[in-house]
Amino acid sequence: MLAVQGGFQRHVEHLREAGAEPVEVRLPTELEDLDGLILPGGESTTINMGIEKAGLAPAILAHHEAGRPVLGTCAGMIVAGKEHLDLIEITTRRNAFGRQLASFEDDIEVEGIVEGKIRAVFIRAPWVESTGDGVEVLAEVRDHPVAVRQGTVTALSFHPELTPDNRIHLWFSELCAA
Ligand code: GLN
Repeated sequence: MLAVQGGFQRHVEHLREAGAEPVEVRLPTELEDLDGLILPGGESTTINMGIEKAGLAPAILAHHEAGRPVLGTCAGMIVAGKEHLDLIEITTRRNAFGRQLASFEDDIEVEGIVEGKIRAVFIRAPWVESTGDGVEVLAEVRDHPVAVRQGTVTALSFHPELTPDNRIHLWFSELCAA
């Protein structure tokens, strides 16, 4: 669990509940030997600065290149995209849903990750502006992708850690264990 800034605590709780053993990552060495990595929501500019300051980017890239899964949520989606860590071939638009929809919730289907619908909490959320060829769109809201996947990297515009529904953390824990 990347823990340089943002809403990582609730992810840690959800991961524990899913039977995983979450580790808070603030230094490159702390990422060694972990089976997966979650990039949380928060403030993407601050998270990017924190990654830079701690020299975490090479460790995150090595983790990704070793085929270990990465999940980015909200600001974490922005950080995972082409403009930053470039783990997934997407560009994003920050605060894309505008002022009126600064925060909203919606019941959405996320293909291949959960059965049926899941309540998605959007907080000054980004949407995916463009996708490369290898990127699968798993969910859309207002005709814009809000869940995407490319290989071992999944990115969500919303906050799966803010509802009691633990299915996304269960799915991710199982993916990491596999
Ligand atoms: N608006 C934030 C950003 O652009 C993301 C918001 C969030 O993570 N809830 O970084």
